[in-house]
Amino acid sequence: MSIEFDTSAECAARLDDADPLRDFRSRFEIPTDSEGKTKIYLVGNSLGALPSLVRHNVAVELDRWARYGVEGHFTGDLAWEPYHELLTEPMAAIVGAKAEEVVVMNSLTVNLHLLMISFYRPTPKRHKVIIEDHAFPSDHFAVESQIRQRGFDPAESLVTLEPSDGAETLDRSDILSAIADAGDELAMVLLPGVQYYTGQVLPMEAITRAAHAVGAVAGFDLAHAAGNIPLRLHHWDVDFASWCTYKYLNGGPGGVGGAFVHSRHVGDQTLPKLLGWWGTRKDTRFEMGTEFEPIPTVESWQLSNAPILAMAALRASLDIVTEAGGMDSLRSKNELQVTYLDFLLDAELGSQISSITPADMDERGAQFALSIVADGVDGREVYHRLGEAGVACDWRYPNVIRVAPVPLYNTFRDIYDFVHILKGLVT
Ligand SMILES: *Cc1c(COP(=O)(O)O)cnc(C)c1O
Repeated sequence: MSIEFDTSAECAARLDDADPLRDFRSRFEIPTDSEGKTKIYLVGNSLGALPSLVRHNVAVELDRWARYGVEGHFTGDLAWEPYHELLTEPMAAIVGAKAEEVVVMNSLTVNLHLLMISFYRPTPKRHKVIIEDHAFPSDHFAVESQIRQRGFDPAESLVTLEPSDGAETLDRSDILSAIADAGDELAMVLLPGVQYYTGQVLPMEAITRAAHAVGAVAGFDLAHAAGNIPLRLHHWDVDFASWCTYKYLNGGPGGVGGAFVHSRHVGDQTLPKLLGWWGTRKDTRFEMGTEFEPIPTVESWQLSNAPILAMAALRASLDIVTEAGGMDSLRSKNELQVTYLDFLLDAELGSQISSITPADMDERGAQFALSIVADGVDGREVYHRLGEAGVACDWRYPNVIRVAPVPLYNTFRDIYDFVHILKGLVT
Protein backbone atom coordinates (compact mmCIF):
# COMPACT_ATOMS: atom_id res chain seq x y z
CA MET A 1 0.00 0.00 0.00
CA SER A 2 1.39 3.36 -0.93
CA ILE A 3 -0.85 5.33 1.43
CA GLU A 4 1.03 7.02 4.25
CA PHE A 5 -0.69 6.74 7.59
CA ASP A 6 -0.38 9.08 10.52
CA THR A 7 -2.05 9.10 13.92
CA SER A 8 -4.36 12.08 13.32
CA ALA A 9 -8.15 11.98 13.05
CA GLU A 10 -7.71 13.75 9.68
CA CYS A 11 -5.91 10.68 8.38
CA ALA A 12 -8.97 8.53 9.20
CA ALA A 13 -11.19 11.10 7.46
CA ARG A 14 -8.92 11.10 4.40
CA LEU A 15 -9.05 7.31 4.20
CA ASP A 16 -12.84 7.37 4.45
CA ASP A 17 -13.10 9.99 1.73
CA ALA A 18 -10.91 7.97 -0.59
CA ASP A 19 -12.76 4.71 0.08
CA PRO A 20 -14.58 3.49 -3.04
CA LEU A 21 -16.96 1.41 -0.85
CA ARG A 22 -17.82 4.24 1.57
CA ASP A 23 -21.45 4.52 0.48
CA PHE A 24 -22.25 0.91 1.38
CA ARG A 25 -22.34 1.70 5.11
CA SER A 26 -25.61 3.55 4.65
CA ARG A 27 -27.15 0.33 3.37
CA PHE A 28 -26.72 -1.28 6.80
CA GLU A 29 -28.38 -0.72 10.17
CA ILE A 30 -25.53 -0.61 12.64
CA PRO A 31 -26.46 -1.59 16.23
CA THR A 32 -26.96 1.25 18.70
CA ASP A 33 -26.69 1.68 22.47
CA SER A 34 -29.66 2.34 24.78
CA GLU A 35 -29.51 6.04 23.93
CA GLY A 36 -29.63 5.37 20.22
CA LYS A 37 -25.95 6.17 19.63
CA THR A 38 -24.38 4.07 16.87
CA LYS A 39 -21.88 1.55 18.16
CA ILE A 40 -18.41 0.97 16.86
CA TYR A 41 -19.47 -2.41 15.57
CA LEU A 42 -16.37 -4.57 15.20
CA VAL A 43 -17.99 -7.94 15.67
CA GLY A 44 -19.11 -8.73 12.12
CA ASN A 45 -16.99 -11.88 12.48
CA SER A 46 -19.65 -13.15 14.88
CA LEU A 47 -22.91 -11.64 13.58
CA GLY A 48 -22.85 -9.31 10.59
CA ALA A 49 -24.98 -6.14 10.70
CA LEU A 50 -28.43 -5.95 9.11
CA PRO A 51 -28.60 -4.86 5.46
CA SER A 52 -31.75 -2.68 5.23
CA LEU A 53 -32.68 -4.48 2.02
CA VAL A 54 -33.45 -7.55 4.16
CA ARG A 55 -36.57 -5.78 5.44
CA HIS A 56 -37.78 -5.34 1.88
CA ASN A 57 -36.97 -8.86 0.71
CA VAL A 58 -38.62 -10.48 3.72
CA ALA A 59 -41.69 -8.24 3.42
CA VAL A 60 -42.02 -9.26 -0.24
CA GLU A 61 -42.13 -12.93 0.76
CA LEU A 62 -44.66 -12.27 3.51
CA ASP A 63 -46.86 -10.48 0.98
CA ARG A 64 -46.47 -13.30 -1.51
CA TRP A 65 -47.41 -15.81 1.18
CA ALA A 66 -50.47 -13.78 2.16
CA ARG A 67 -51.55 -13.31 -1.42
CA TYR A 68 -50.75 -16.63 -3.08
CA GLY A 69 -50.65 -19.15 -0.25
CA VAL A 70 -49.45 -22.50 -1.54
CA GLU A 71 -49.36 -21.19 -5.11
CA GLY A 72 -46.35 -19.12 -4.06
CA HIS A 73 -44.24 -22.22 -4.59
CA PHE A 74 -44.76 -21.96 -8.33
CA THR A 75 -45.74 -18.34 -8.97
CA GLY A 76 -43.56 -15.62 -10.47
CA ASP A 77 -39.83 -14.91 -10.56
CA LEU A 78 -39.55 -15.52 -6.85
CA ALA A 79 -41.34 -18.89 -6.82
CA TRP A 80 -40.31 -20.78 -3.69
CA GLU A 81 -39.66 -24.19 -5.22
CA PRO A 82 -36.54 -23.02 -7.09
CA TYR A 83 -35.86 -20.05 -4.73
CA HIS A 84 -32.49 -21.39 -3.52
CA GLU A 85 -31.23 -21.26 -7.12
CA LEU A 86 -31.27 -17.45 -6.90
CA LEU A 87 -28.46 -17.73 -4.35
CA THR A 88 -26.26 -20.21 -6.18
CA GLU A 89 -24.32 -17.99 -8.60
CA PRO A 90 -23.54 -15.20 -6.14
CA MET A 91 -22.50 -17.72 -3.49
CA ALA A 92 -20.36 -19.69 -5.93
CA ALA A 93 -18.56 -16.46 -6.82
CA ILE A 94 -17.85 -15.78 -3.14
CA VAL A 95 -16.21 -19.16 -2.53
CA GLY A 96 -14.55 -19.55 -5.94
CA ALA A 97 -16.63 -22.46 -7.20
CA LYS A 98 -18.73 -23.53 -10.16
CA ALA A 99 -22.47 -23.21 -9.80
CA GLU A 100 -22.95 -26.99 -9.84
CA GLU A 101 -20.63 -27.24 -6.80
CA VAL A 102 -22.49 -24.91 -4.43
CA VAL A 103 -25.83 -25.08 -2.71
CA VAL A 104 -27.31 -22.95 0.04
CA MET A 105 -29.12 -25.18 2.55
CA ASN A 106 -29.48 -26.13 6.21
CA SER A 107 -26.83 -24.79 8.59
CA LEU A 108 -23.10 -25.21 8.98
CA THR A 109 -22.96 -28.18 11.37
CA VAL A 110 -25.82 -29.99 9.61
CA ASN A 111 -24.01 -29.63 6.29
CA LEU A 112 -20.77 -30.87 7.83
CA HIS A 113 -22.56 -34.01 8.93
CA LEU A 114 -24.21 -34.55 5.55
CA LEU A 115 -20.89 -34.13 3.77
CA MET A 116 -18.99 -36.35 6.19
CA ILE A 117 -21.55 -39.09 5.54
CA SER A 118 -20.32 -38.95 1.94
CA PHE A 119 -16.64 -38.22 2.42
CA TYR A 120 -15.62 -39.94 5.62
CA ARG A 121 -15.56 -43.60 4.68
CA PRO A 122 -13.23 -45.24 7.18
CA THR A 123 -11.82 -48.73 6.77
CA PRO A 124 -9.91 -50.73 9.41
CA LYS A 125 -6.70 -49.56 7.75
CA ARG A 126 -7.64 -45.97 6.81
CA HIS A 127 -9.80 -44.38 9.51
CA LYS A 128 -8.00 -41.35 10.94
CA VAL A 129 -9.26 -37.78 10.83
CA ILE A 130 -7.05 -34.74 11.38
CA ILE A 131 -8.63 -31.72 13.04
CA GLU A 132 -7.08 -28.95 15.14
CA ASP A 133 -6.76 -29.22 18.88
CA HIS A 134 -8.43 -25.83 19.29
CA ALA A 135 -11.26 -26.65 16.86
CA PHE A 136 -14.58 -24.88 17.27
CA PRO A 137 -16.51 -27.23 19.60
CA SER A 138 -19.24 -27.97 17.06
CA ASP A 139 -16.65 -29.23 14.56
CA HIS A 140 -15.00 -31.38 17.20
CA PHE A 141 -18.33 -32.87 18.29
CA ALA A 142 -19.40 -33.47 14.69
CA VAL A 143 -16.21 -35.35 13.81
CA GLU A 144 -16.13 -37.32 17.05
CA SER A 145 -19.72 -38.46 16.57
CA GLN A 146 -19.09 -39.40 12.94
CA ILE A 147 -16.15 -41.56 14.04
CA ARG A 148 -18.31 -43.32 16.62
CA GLN A 149 -21.21 -43.76 14.18
CA ARG A 150 -18.92 -45.79 11.92
CA GLY A 151 -17.90 -48.01 14.79
CA PHE A 152 -14.46 -46.47 15.36
CA ASP A 153 -12.97 -45.02 18.51
CA PRO A 154 -11.97 -41.33 18.64
CA ALA A 155 -9.06 -42.33 20.90
CA GLU A 156 -7.60 -44.20 17.91
CA SER A 157 -9.00 -42.27 14.99
CA LEU A 158 -8.99 -38.60 15.95
CA VAL A 159 -5.68 -36.80 15.43
CA THR A 160 -5.51 -33.24 16.76
CA LEU A 161 -3.00 -30.65 15.60
CA GLU A 162 -1.45 -28.32 18.14
CA PRO A 163 0.75 -25.28 17.67
CA SER A 164 4.38 -26.13 18.40
CA ASP A 165 5.89 -25.09 21.73
CA GLY A 166 4.87 -21.64 22.82
CA ALA A 167 3.21 -20.68 19.52
CA GLU A 168 -0.42 -19.59 19.26
CA THR A 169 -0.93 -20.46 15.62
CA LEU A 170 -0.33 -23.58 13.57
CA ASP A 171 2.85 -23.89 11.60
CA ARG A 172 2.34 -24.71 7.93
CA SER A 173 5.06 -27.34 7.87
CA ASP A 174 3.68 -28.97 11.04
CA ILE A 175 0.27 -29.34 9.41
CA LEU A 176 1.71 -30.79 6.23
CA SER A 177 3.98 -33.20 8.06
CA ALA A 178 1.15 -34.39 10.32
CA ILE A 179 -0.78 -35.27 7.16
CA ALA A 180 2.21 -37.05 5.63
CA ASP A 181 2.87 -38.91 8.92
CA ALA A 182 -0.70 -40.18 9.15
CA GLY A 183 -0.12 -41.52 5.60
CA ASP A 184 -2.28 -44.41 4.52
CA GLU A 185 -4.14 -44.42 7.85
CA LEU A 186 -5.54 -40.98 7.09
CA ALA A 187 -9.11 -40.88 5.75
CA MET A 188 -9.93 -37.16 6.05
CA VAL A 189 -8.62 -33.76 7.03
CA LEU A 190 -11.18 -31.30 8.39
CA LEU A 191 -9.71 -27.90 9.09
CA PRO A 192 -10.92 -24.32 9.15
CA GLY A 193 -10.21 -21.90 6.32
CA VAL A 194 -9.76 -19.15 8.90
CA GLN A 195 -9.28 -20.16 12.55
CA TYR A 196 -12.06 -18.64 14.67
CA TYR A 197 -9.90 -17.76 17.69
CA THR A 198 -6.59 -16.60 16.24
CA GLY A 199 -7.83 -15.37 12.85
CA GLN A 200 -5.12 -17.40 11.11
CA VAL A 201 -5.77 -18.30 7.47
CA LEU A 202 -4.70 -21.88 6.83
CA PRO A 203 -3.00 -22.86 3.54
CA MET A 204 -6.03 -24.60 2.09
CA GLU A 205 -4.50 -25.45 -1.26
CA ALA A 206 -1.35 -26.99 0.24
CA ILE A 207 -3.39 -28.92 2.82
CA THR A 208 -5.62 -30.30 0.09
CA ARG A 209 -2.63 -31.35 -1.98
CA ALA A 210 -0.98 -33.03 1.01
CA ALA A 211 -4.18 -34.90 1.88
CA HIS A 212 -4.61 -36.11 -1.69
CA ALA A 213 -0.97 -37.21 -1.81
CA VAL A 214 -1.66 -39.76 0.94
CA GLY A 215 -5.03 -40.80 -0.50
CA ALA A 216 -7.23 -38.83 1.96
CA VAL A 217 -9.94 -36.24 1.36
CA ALA A 218 -9.77 -32.59 2.42
CA GLY A 219 -12.78 -30.76 3.83
CA PHE A 220 -12.92 -27.23 5.20
CA ASP A 221 -15.09 -25.33 7.61
CA LEU A 222 -15.35 -21.86 6.11
CA ALA A 223 -17.37 -20.18 8.87
CA HIS A 224 -14.78 -17.42 9.26
CA ALA A 225 -13.53 -17.51 5.69
CA ALA A 226 -16.65 -17.11 3.52
CA GLY A 227 -17.18 -13.41 2.88
CA ASN A 228 -13.91 -12.57 4.63
CA ILE A 229 -11.15 -13.65 2.24
CA PRO A 230 -11.20 -14.60 -1.45
CA LEU A 231 -11.41 -18.38 -1.88
CA ARG A 232 -10.78 -20.66 -4.86
CA LEU A 233 -12.31 -23.92 -3.76
CA HIS A 234 -12.63 -25.42 -7.22
CA HIS A 235 -9.13 -24.50 -8.32
CA TRP A 236 -7.62 -25.68 -5.03
CA ASP A 237 -9.28 -29.05 -5.63
CA VAL A 238 -10.93 -29.05 -2.20
CA ASP A 239 -13.22 -32.07 -1.80
CA PHE A 240 -15.96 -30.49 0.31
CA ALA A 241 -16.71 -27.49 2.48
CA SER A 242 -19.42 -26.05 4.69
CA TRP A 243 -20.02 -22.55 6.01
CA CYS A 244 -22.52 -20.28 7.71
CA THR A 245 -23.81 -16.97 6.41
CA TYR A 246 -24.49 -14.96 9.58
CA LYS A 247 -20.87 -13.93 10.15
CA TYR A 248 -19.11 -12.08 7.32
CA LEU A 249 -22.03 -12.67 4.94
CA ASN A 250 -24.60 -10.71 6.99
CA GLY A 251 -27.35 -13.26 6.40
CA GLY A 252 -28.96 -12.86 9.83
CA PRO A 253 -29.00 -14.88 13.07
CA GLY A 254 -29.16 -18.61 12.50
CA GLY A 255 -29.16 -17.90 8.75
CA VAL A 256 -29.06 -20.64 6.17
CA GLY A 257 -25.69 -22.33 5.48
CA GLY A 258 -23.64 -23.16 2.41
CA ALA A 259 -22.14 -26.38 1.09
CA PHE A 260 -19.53 -27.16 -1.58
CA VAL A 261 -18.75 -30.46 -3.25
CA HIS A 262 -16.09 -30.50 -5.96
CA SER A 263 -17.40 -31.19 -9.47
CA ARG A 264 -15.26 -34.37 -9.52
CA HIS A 265 -17.58 -35.85 -6.89
CA VAL A 266 -20.90 -34.22 -7.67
CA GLY A 267 -22.13 -36.97 -9.99
CA ASP A 268 -20.46 -39.86 -8.16
CA GLN A 269 -23.33 -42.25 -7.37
CA THR A 270 -21.07 -44.49 -5.28
CA LEU A 271 -20.83 -41.87 -2.52
CA PRO A 272 -23.06 -42.73 0.44
CA LYS A 273 -25.59 -39.99 1.00
CA LEU A 274 -28.61 -39.24 3.16
CA LEU A 275 -31.56 -38.61 0.88
CA GLY A 276 -34.59 -36.36 0.92
CA TRP A 277 -37.18 -35.27 -1.61
CA TRP A 278 -35.37 -32.00 -2.39
CA GLY A 279 -32.42 -33.95 -3.81
CA THR A 280 -34.35 -35.76 -6.49
CA ARG A 281 -35.01 -34.57 -10.06
CA LYS A 282 -36.99 -31.34 -10.11
CA ASP A 283 -39.16 -32.13 -13.10
CA THR A 284 -40.56 -35.33 -11.60
CA ARG A 285 -40.39 -34.47 -7.90
CA PHE A 286 -44.06 -33.69 -7.58
CA GLU A 287 -45.07 -36.95 -9.19
CA MET A 288 -44.21 -38.29 -5.75
CA GLY A 289 -42.46 -41.43 -6.97
CA THR A 290 -40.13 -43.31 -4.63
CA GLU A 291 -37.26 -43.85 -7.01
CA PHE A 292 -34.51 -41.33 -6.22
CA GLU A 293 -33.07 -39.71 -9.31
CA PRO A 294 -30.35 -37.35 -8.10
CA ILE A 295 -30.16 -33.79 -9.41
CA PRO A 296 -26.83 -33.73 -11.29
CA THR A 297 -25.37 -31.02 -9.03
CA VAL A 298 -24.60 -30.67 -5.31
CA GLU A 299 -28.33 -29.95 -4.95
CA SER A 300 -28.74 -33.73 -4.72
CA TRP A 301 -27.49 -33.37 -1.11
CA GLN A 302 -30.54 -31.25 -0.28
CA LEU A 303 -33.10 -32.88 1.98
CA SER A 304 -35.96 -30.46 2.58
CA ASN A 305 -37.76 -27.61 0.91
CA ALA A 306 -36.00 -24.35 1.61
CA PRO A 307 -36.47 -21.79 4.43
CA ILE A 308 -37.63 -18.91 2.23
CA LEU A 309 -37.59 -16.11 4.83
CA ALA A 310 -33.97 -16.87 5.75
CA MET A 311 -33.04 -17.09 2.08
CA ALA A 312 -34.79 -13.81 1.30
CA ALA A 313 -32.55 -12.19 3.91
CA LEU A 314 -29.44 -13.80 2.50
CA ARG A 315 -30.35 -12.79 -1.04
CA ALA A 316 -30.28 -9.16 0.09
CA SER A 317 -26.82 -9.45 1.55
CA LEU A 318 -25.38 -11.41 -1.37
CA ASP A 319 -26.76 -8.79 -3.77
CA ILE A 320 -24.82 -6.17 -1.83
CA VAL A 321 -21.58 -8.18 -2.04
CA THR A 322 -22.06 -8.50 -5.79
CA GLU A 323 -22.84 -4.81 -6.16
CA ALA A 324 -19.72 -3.92 -4.18
CA GLY A 325 -17.60 -5.75 -6.74
CA GLY A 326 -17.27 -9.15 -5.05
CA MET A 327 -14.61 -10.56 -2.78
CA ASP A 328 -11.57 -9.01 -4.48
CA SER A 329 -13.03 -5.57 -3.99
CA LEU A 330 -13.95 -6.26 -0.35
CA ARG A 331 -10.54 -7.75 0.31
CA SER A 332 -8.63 -4.82 -1.08
CA LYS A 333 -10.44 -2.40 1.25
CA ASN A 334 -10.04 -4.82 4.12
CA GLU A 335 -6.28 -5.06 3.63
CA LEU A 336 -6.11 -1.30 4.00
CA GLN A 337 -8.30 -1.44 7.13
CA VAL A 338 -6.12 -4.15 8.64
CA THR A 339 -2.90 -2.32 7.80
CA TYR A 340 -4.28 0.90 9.31
CA LEU A 341 -5.36 -0.86 12.50
CA ASP A 342 -1.92 -2.50 12.75
CA PHE A 343 -0.34 0.91 12.35
CA LEU A 344 -2.50 2.62 14.99
CA LEU A 345 -2.16 -0.19 17.53
CA ASP A 346 1.58 -0.05 17.20
CA ALA A 347 1.75 3.74 17.29
CA GLU A 348 -0.68 4.26 20.18
CA LEU A 349 -0.34 1.14 22.31
CA GLY A 350 3.01 -0.38 21.35
CA SER A 351 4.00 -3.24 23.58
CA GLN A 352 0.96 -2.96 25.88
CA ILE A 353 -0.97 -5.11 23.54
CA SER A 354 -0.06 -8.12 21.47
CA SER A 355 -1.87 -9.74 18.62
CA ILE A 356 -1.80 -13.50 18.23
CA THR A 357 -3.10 -13.16 14.67
CA PRO A 358 -0.31 -13.74 12.13
CA ALA A 359 1.27 -10.49 10.92
CA ASP A 360 1.62 -11.63 7.32
CA MET A 361 -1.34 -10.49 5.16
CA ASP A 362 -1.47 -13.88 3.40
CA GLU A 363 -2.22 -15.53 6.72
CA ARG A 364 -4.99 -13.29 7.98
CA GLY A 365 -8.38 -11.86 7.11
CA ALA A 366 -10.34 -9.12 8.87
CA GLN A 367 -10.02 -10.45 12.41
CA PHE A 368 -7.56 -9.41 15.09
CA ALA A 369 -7.12 -11.53 18.22
CA LEU A 370 -5.69 -9.09 20.75
CA SER A 371 -4.23 -9.90 24.15
CA ILE A 372 -3.70 -7.14 26.68
CA VAL A 373 -0.22 -7.55 28.09
CA ALA A 374 0.09 -4.21 29.95
CA ASP A 375 1.09 -4.76 33.59
CA GLY A 376 -1.77 -4.97 36.06
CA VAL A 377 -4.49 -4.66 33.40
CA ASP A 378 -7.12 -7.40 33.23
CA GLY A 379 -8.11 -8.21 29.63
CA ARG A 380 -11.62 -9.21 30.56
CA GLU A 381 -12.17 -5.94 32.41
CA VAL A 382 -10.91 -4.04 29.34
CA TYR A 383 -13.40 -5.95 27.22
CA HIS A 384 -16.28 -4.89 29.52
CA ARG A 385 -15.16 -1.28 29.55
CA LEU A 386 -14.91 -1.28 25.74
CA GLY A 387 -18.54 -2.37 25.68
CA GLU A 388 -19.54 0.46 28.01
CA ALA A 389 -17.72 2.90 25.74
CA GLY A 390 -19.75 1.77 22.73
CA VAL A 391 -17.38 -0.73 21.13
CA ALA A 392 -18.99 -4.02 20.10
CA CYS A 393 -16.30 -6.72 20.08
CA ASP A 394 -16.04 -10.09 21.77
CA TRP A 395 -14.11 -11.94 24.39
CA ARG A 396 -12.81 -15.44 24.02
CA TYR A 397 -11.48 -17.39 26.96
CA PRO A 398 -8.74 -17.35 28.17
CA ASN A 399 -7.37 -13.98 27.10
CA VAL A 400 -8.39 -12.68 23.72
CA ILE A 401 -10.42 -9.72 22.55
CA ARG A 402 -11.56 -10.31 18.98
CA VAL A 403 -12.21 -7.33 16.72
CA ALA A 404 -12.85 -7.38 12.99
CA PRO A 405 -13.15 -4.25 10.88
CA VAL A 406 -15.21 -5.30 7.86
CA PRO A 407 -15.19 -3.55 4.50
CA LEU A 408 -18.92 -3.15 3.80
CA TYR A 409 -19.81 -1.07 6.85
CA ASN A 410 -16.82 -0.26 9.05
CA THR A 411 -15.19 3.09 8.52
CA PHE A 412 -11.59 4.09 9.08
CA ARG A 413 -13.01 6.42 11.72
CA ASP A 414 -14.38 3.34 13.53
CA ILE A 415 -10.85 1.98 13.64
CA TYR A 416 -9.44 5.29 14.86
CA ASP A 417 -12.09 5.60 17.59
CA PHE A 418 -11.60 2.01 18.72
CA VAL A 419 -7.85 2.46 19.16
CA HIS A 420 -8.29 5.70 21.12
CA ILE A 421 -10.89 4.17 23.43
CA LEU A 422 -8.67 1.14 23.96
CA LYS A 423 -5.67 3.35 24.67
CA GLY A 424 -7.66 5.22 27.30
CA LEU A 425 -8.46 1.93 29.04
CA VAL A 426 -5.04 0.36 28.92
CA THR A 427 -2.58 3.19 29.54
C1 LIG B 1 -19.67 -20.10 13.86
C2 LIG B 1 -19.07 -21.45 13.73
C3 LIG B 1 -19.86 -22.62 13.81
C4 LIG B 1 -21.34 -22.53 14.10
O1 LIG B 1 -22.02 -23.65 13.61
P1 LIG B 1 -23.60 -23.59 13.34
O2 LIG B 1 -23.89 -24.94 12.85
O3 LIG B 1 -23.84 -22.49 12.34
O4 LIG B 1 -24.27 -23.25 14.64
C5 LIG B 1 -19.24 -23.86 13.64
N1 LIG B 1 -17.90 -23.94 13.41
C6 LIG B 1 -17.12 -22.84 13.32
C7 LIG B 1 -15.66 -22.97 13.04
C8 LIG B 1 -17.68 -21.58 13.50
O5 LIG B 1 -16.89 -20.49 13.47
